[in-house]
Amino acid sequence: MKIQVLGTGSSGNCYKVKIGRATLLLECGLPFKVIQKKLNFKVSEIDACLVTHEHMDHAKAVKDLMKAGIDCYMTKGTAEALGVSGHRLKTFRPFEKARYYSEVLKDLIILPFEAVHDVAEPVSYFIKTRDDKESLVFVTDTAYLKYKIPDCECLMIECNYVKSRLDENVRLGNINTNLRNRIVKNHLSLESLVEALKLADLSRCKKIYLLHLSDGNSDEKLIKRTIQEMTGIEVVVC
Ligand SMILES: [Zn+2]
Ligand SMILES: [Zn+2]
Repeated sequence: MKIQVLGTGSSGNCYKVKIGRATLLLECGLPFKVIQKKLNFKVSEIDACLVTHEHMDHAKAVKDLMKAGIDCYMTKGTAEALGVSGHRLKTFRPFEKARYYSEVLKDLIILPFEAVHDVAEPVSYFIKTRDDKESLVFVTDTAYLKYKIPDCECLMIECNYVKSRLDENVRLGNINTNLRNRIVKNHLSLESLVEALKLADLSRCKKIYLLHLSDGNSDEKLIKRTIQEMTGIEVVVC
């Protein structure tokens, strides 16, 4: 598996992942021109793009990617919010509210699962090869984990803020309570990440990528040390 970070955080999220026989883009929250450049103008190498939700820092280039002939996967709610349609749009078939059938792409099985974010129909992704040799979990923009993190070889997960940092910023008047509440209701804190990791089976996990850190409310060193010491797994802060 090979992961390349094209962008992370509120200025735009986009990750290129080679897994199994496929090359995916996870999110496309950068201008299309920037994505093209970062991919050395080889956009056609991408088999598909998976989008978690409609916020522009995750979906900015979706229309351009479709025009360029890339299949884009998302929930129906996300597609409607983005106003996209056409044969390059692939939506996940729900079998009940916020529960979906998986999709097959080359040798991959792609399973979306519900995220907790104030948008139409947000999801996270569990992606694995059919032979179970490679697996990846991608979680971002969620207040907490509704489900146990699936066993995987590589975990890419949001760590947006540190609660004490956020509270300190409120106390100092750097951010107001409204904004604080919005962050807490929509994003994953270091503290919630720790709780989620306690419940997960990480015996197969070789690497953890931490994503979408907030500039003012996080602490890169503390985050990295906390997760590395807790899990004993190599941690990369993006
Ligand atoms: Zn968002
Ligand atoms: Zn975001």
